Amino acid sequence: MAENPLFAPSSLPYQLPPFAEIREEHYLPAFERGMAEQLAEVQKITGSAEAPTFDNTVAALERSGRLLGRTATAFFSVVASDSTDAVMEIEKRITPELTRHGDAIRLDRALWARIKQVTTEDPEEAWLLEKYREDFVRAGADLSEAEQDRLKGLNEELSRLSTEFAQNLLKAANDSALVVEDAGELDGFDEDRIRSLERDGKYVLPLLNFTNQPGLAQLTDRDVRRRLYTLSVERAPQNFELAVRMAKLRAERASLLGFPDHASYKVADQTAKTVEAVEEMLGQLVGPAVRNARREAEALAEQAGFEIEPWDWSFYSEKVRRARYDFDASAMRPYFELDRVFRDGIFHAATRLYGITFTERPDLRGYHEDVRVFEVSNEDGSALGLFALDPYARPGKRGGAWMNNLVDQSFLFGEKPVVINNLNVTKPATGPTLLTYDEVNTAFHEFGHALHGLFSEVRFPRVSGTSVPRDFVEYPSQVNEMWATWPEVLANYARHHETGEPMPAELVEKMKAAEKFNQGFMTVEYLAATLLDWAWHRLAPGEDVEDAQAFEQAALEAAQIAFPLVRPRYRTNYFAHIFSGGYSAGYYSYIWSEVLDAESVEWFKENGGLERRNGDHFRRTLLSRGGSGDPLAAFRAFRGREPSIKPLLERRGLA
Ligand SMILES: [Zn+2]
Repeated sequence: MAENPLFAPSSLPYQLPPFAEIREEHYLPAFERGMAEQLAEVQKITGSAEAPTFDNTVAALERSGRLLGRTATAFFSVVASDSTDAVMEIEKRITPELTRHGDAIRLDRALWARIKQVTTEDPEEAWLLEKYREDFVRAGADLSEAEQDRLKGLNEELSRLSTEFAQNLLKAANDSALVVEDAGELDGFDEDRIRSLERDGKYVLPLLNFTNQPGLAQLTDRDVRRRLYTLSVERAPQNFELAVRMAKLRAERASLLGFPDHASYKVADQTAKTVEAVEEMLGQLVGPAVRNARREAEALAEQAGFEIEPWDWSFYSEKVRRARYDFDASAMRPYFELDRVFRDGIFHAATRLYGITFTERPDLRGYHEDVRVFEVSNEDGSALGLFALDPYARPGKRGGAWMNNLVDQSFLFGEKPVVINNLNVTKPATGPTLLTYDEVNTAFHEFGHALHGLFSEVRFPRVSGTSVPRDFVEYPSQVNEMWATWPEVLANYARHHETGEPMPAELVEKMKAAEKFNQGFMTVEYLAATLLDWAWHRLAPGEDVEDAQAFEQAALEAAQIAFPLVRPRYRTNYFAHIFSGGYSAGYYSYIWSEVLDAESVEWFKENGGLERRNGDHFRRTLLSRGGSGDPLAAFRAFRGREPSIKPLLERRGLA
């Protein structure tokens, strides 16, 4: 094991993890040694004879656990993007151990006693110190021995259940895939698409991780649509039981920590702060959103000539788009070629706004051959960091799209950021990768997170880049979506992959007009998932749920969002965000952040749009600050006033 590449810091540029050298058997020993090292570092802090200072206590904690951090970053990247049975076994074994390890530090009484004595005058240090105090109290540092023992047990069981939930879903993507023998049943898909689904003489359409599968918009056979939809909403049924158990344990934990329910506990350190604030906001949206969706449903029934079912919604909304707006979403795909979308769209917009440039580094590798790495430079040529891109879906990759850091920017270690974006685009059997409009939008969104990570200029890794409250983190990424259809940017990247012709202006106009049509559906689908998350996490301690599916239905009805034609974007059984992804009682964050997003888009428009001075202002006041200060103060510094909900209501047609 002397040659375990995780034991030493990476020697690659920017300390990119040495994925090419890491083998599965390297992880466990590196985790074990990493945890032991960090505990020894903590013992050194608590055993010190010196009086507690910021540097010998809080900064010392920031400096601890380097090997563990490196190992976890590499390992969990592979878990999410390129998992195998062996990796899943390691994950099952290591997750509860990591939870135990985290508790051992945050429930260390000697350490907590020292942190409480630290004082500092420096604002960035004071903010971090406050974060540490909050983290420790929220982790149970002030509880009695007996309460802490119970808490540790709860945390361990919750982390085990959360891993099981995610692994069930990963298996369900294929186990519950739609399988057809006859290609004729896939009528509506183009030939390339059908060919890419062929497996051993059958056709296999794996499930994506949300209710409304994209294929429902194209498949002409109504019964095939029904089967696909049913497979989607009924996948991984064993997860219902796990969800019930997790909600119960979370309520008990909240009560131990002095909160009436898990939602109250979760929002306390968010920008929302109270459940009332969240409920007040959601309350303003539900009624108008459902009314919009009902109006849309009427138009769909009229188009179809019969009462539609949930699996018909996408298919007939495409038809209405064509009939009413003369718009065909698939006509856009030939203009959205992956490379070009990045080089001439996403990167181009960033160059115009921030002056940064991108150089591909084929010599640098990720965990899979599809990962591409780019070096990012400032306008003056100085190095900013690395951006990695993993665009394709594959077995062993979880659903959705996300960004994470491979190296956190910090002045403490003098390290520059390395960030990665994951997408789930189907890799074509041959030829160029063409994206849907949704996929283009998602790519711009994830790149907004990447910029938040890349522009970070903070002292401490704990508050680097996207380490901000959950209900704030989606804000910069949503703002970046605005450039996808910004005329100058769109004209630069949306070119036909064969002829090089620009996308016809009228197609863009039609797309924008048609986009307003399905807003009711999208808002209801999202709000229903949000209110479902909320219901699971407002359960009082000791409250029992007998039947998860009945609970789900009752929760939607109580929130007045039950609308049979539009199910939640995620049902309980595949709501990975809240049962395995850290968004429990946090799915409201997307619309909460959208208030700030809509405000900021308005600001950019008022100030001339795609201009360096605008990008620089956003970067300086907001993106570069990471989590090193009050996020809402950063917003006010950027916008020049308190946020208002009005721009959001107008954008979503809810005013
Ligand atoms: Zn996001």
